[in-house]
Amino acid sequence: MTTPAKPNTPLPALFIGHGNPMNAIQENVYAAAWRAAAAALPRPKAILCISAHWETEGTFVTAMTQPKTIHDFYGFPDELNQVQYPAPGSPELAERLRSLVTSTKVRLDYGYSWGLDHGAWSVLRRMYPQADIPTVQLSLDRSQHPRFHYDLGSELAALRQEGVLIVGSGNIVHNLRLLQWDAREPYPWATEFDKLAEQLILAGEHDRLVAYPALGEAARLAIPTNEHYLPLLYILALQQPGEAVSFFAEGLPLGSISMRSVRLG
Ligand code: ZN
Repeated sequence: MTTPAKPNTPLPALFIGHGNPMNAIQENVYAAAWRAAAAALPRPKAILCISAHWETEGTFVTAMTQPKTIHDFYGFPDELNQVQYPAPGSPELAERLRSLVTSTKVRLDYGYSWGLDHGAWSVLRRMYPQADIPTVQLSLDRSQHPRFHYDLGSELAALRQEGVLIVGSGNIVHNLRLLQWDAREPYPWATEFDKLAEQLILAGEHDRLVAYPALGEAARLAIPTNEHYLPLLYILALQQPGEAVSFFAEGLPLGSISMRSVRLG
C-alpha cells in the first residue's frame, strides 16, 4: 500500500520509455520496472500523461469524465486489442491545467477525438492496475518547436505540489524504420545517443537536449521524428534547482528503441 502524498511536497515526475505495445501485456523487465516505480511513489490524486501518440494542431487536454481506451496500433494480437483501462477522467484537472498555461491556448477535449492511448495505458496498467486514479492526457502540438514543448512543460510544475503525477511516455531513441524484431544488439548510434542523453540528463544540460539536432548523426538517427522524444522535454522542464534525477529502467531492444526511463525527485 502506498501512502497519500503530503500536501505541498512535490510529487516525483516520470518519463517512461514505453517501446513495443506488447509491453502492456507481456511480463518482462520493463513491466516490472514500471510497477516498482509506482510502488515507490506516494499515491497520486490524479495523473497527467503526455504521450507520444497524441499529436494535434494546437494543444488539447482530455476533459471527459470517462476517457475511452484507444487501441492506436495495427497488427497486434487480439489480446492487446481487448485491453481496457477504465480510469476516470478529471475535468477539474483539465481546467486547472488550462488555467496554469499562459504560453499557448489549451483547448479541452470532451471526448470527441481522444481518450487514453496506448502510450498512456500500456504503462499505467502496470503502475496502477486498478485504474482508479483520475487520468488526463495532454496532446503534443505538432506545429511547434522543441523549445515550445519544454517551456509548456515548465508551466505545469504547480501540479506536482497538488498531488498530480506527471508522466511523459515516449522513447529517447525511437527509429521504427530501422527497427529489427530479431536484433541481438542495438545499433552503435542507438547506444551512443542513449548514453549521451543519460549524461546530459544527469548534468542538467537541458538546453542541449532541447537543441538535439545539434547533437550530430546519432541524434538524427535516434530521433527521425520527435513525437517520442518530446515527452522527455516536458518532464525535464519540471526539474527544480538541485532536484535529484535517476533512471529506473533502461535497455535498447529491437536495435533502435531506448527504454531509458527517468525519475525526478
Ligand atoms: Zn510509442
